Amino acid sequence: MEKLVLASNNAGKLREFRELLSPLKYEILSQGDLGIPSAEEPHLTFVENALAKAKHACAMSGLPALADDSGICVNALNGEPGVHSARYANLKNGDDDQDHANNQKLIAALTSIIDRSAHYVCALVFLRHVHDPEPIIVQTRWYGSIIDKPKGGGGFGYDPYFFLTELGKTAAELTALEKNMHSHRGQALRELVNQLDKYR
Ligand code: IMP
Repeated sequence: MEKLVLASNNAGKLREFRELLSPLKYEILSQGDLGIPSAEEPHLTFVENALAKAKHACAMSGLPALADDSGICVNALNGEPGVHSARYANLKNGDDDQDHANNQKLIAALTSIIDRSAHYVCALVFLRHVHDPEPIIVQTRWYGSIIDKPKGGGGFGYDPYFFLTELGKTAAELTALEKNMHSHRGQALRELVNQLDKYR
């Protein structure tokens, strides 16, 4: 079976990736499994960061790589936290209540703001090898709004505050299966699997 490296060390994301990529005939390894350190994410767009992560994983492993860059964009904050979502509250590496601090900062930034509309974004890049001239690139959105009080114990990151009007629940109240059916990453991975099928 061909091997594929996932250029992420985020446990929540790896769980979702593994689930969604199960139809592919790849043995899926995380870059952590291979001892590959995280790449820099210096760019201001999701797509550029995902490409940088995929290139880094390909170069270090010699294997095909799939990277995502994702985050939450809030309209009233001009798209912030955006590409800064993971470290929005700026805690040091290894601080384990990063998610809590990020959410507190977001709720504080939205005090007395009425427009709570937001969306998750997922940019995915697949590279067959480090010099692949034709990366597969997919970018998708999942629409919702930010609420002040957390609800639900599933998911990760901003999920307890991300309310889905059409489902009447937050993303953290969905089962893993339901989240994958609707989420930015679920949409992007289904589209990627589609494209991989066509272009292999
Ligand atoms: P990345 O690992 O650089 O792509 O950072 C993504 C960050 O965006 C995560 O650490 C979360 O804070 C946030 N994020 C992305 N996708 C999700 C999701 O599905 N649920 C909750 N937070 C998410």
